[in-house]
Amino acid sequence: MIKKHRREPLELQVFLCASARKNFPPEDNFYFHHIYNDYKGMVRFDQFLNRAPLDNLILHNLTFEYRRSYIHVDTLLIKANTVHLFEMCTRPGSYYAKGDYWYPYPEMDERWAPHQELQDKASLFTSFLRQIGFSSFTAASHLMCMEPQFVLYNAQPDPDVVFAGQLGSFFADLVLDSPPDVTEQHHQLADRLLSLHIEDPSDRYTPAYEYEELAKGVTCEKCATMMTFDENQFHCAPCDRSWKYDTTMQRLIGEFKLLFPERRATAAALDDWCAGTVPLSTIRQSLKEYSPPRRPSKTTSFFMESL
Ligand SMILES: [Zn+2]
Repeated sequence: MIKKHRREPLELQVFLCASARKNFPPEDNFYFHHIYNDYKGMVRFDQFLNRAPLDNLILHNLTFEYRRSYIHVDTLLIKANTVHLFEMCTRPGSYYAKGDYWYPYPEMDERWAPHQELQDKASLFTSFLRQIGFSSFTAASHLMCMEPQFVLYNAQPDPDVVFAGQLGSFFADLVLDSPPDVTEQHHQLADRLLSLHIEDPSDRYTPAYEYEELAKGVTCEKCATMMTFDENQFHCAPCDRSWKYDTTMQRLIGEFKLLFPERRATAAALDDWCAGTVPLSTIRQSLKEYSPPRRPSKTTSFFMESL
């Protein structure tokens, strides 16, 4: 049972919408491509987790303040007396294991001690659990290497590190580990963690854009080309297809509010945003019917795939 869902990072949503209307510098594209790959890796993990017949409480994307610093958890699962912490690794490429460290291969120009980090995190989180009144629980940390192309040479078996090809067997073992056992205390712990969760306070990088410099019009949700409007439908020439006006306008209003939270989404503002391609009566009707989307739109993710 999912007690807290994962959402597409706000900074990524903003970039995906804005990048359909402005060319960003290569360093922005590189940064957001990295964020996008991280998010895709987490979604892949969630799909595996959802398929596993686990009847446990699951919380995604949590941040806690503890001992004057922050603990971030990609995914948390409560099972018996263990709080499983899942950290995603979405690094591509090859690595070489030597002692406690992993080095990029063949450059070997930096190093990383994932096993030590996992142990430190499990120990810190166990201490955190004790402080919030759940001392009967201990934390276990797992590194989930979600990138199928990730290669680690010279590695010793480590049950805390799970590679993409091992996900199925890892969850099968976790299912068998103890019988389904969601208790009242599990719910109390999950609720306590939810109450202590804070929005990620780390400095987010927001892409720079101004209203005036963004291209105006109605973008196609598949290819981000500006569409024409006719007979209550939007038409995309490259895709050679039409889109319903109501769902497209709902998406468009949502994007406007996301990109410019300080502006009022009035009929006149939307008329300018659509570059006058949509009748005012249609805009007014769409504004009346508008309700915020439950899921973020995927308008321009094709852009990230093509980088
Ligand atoms: Zn299109």
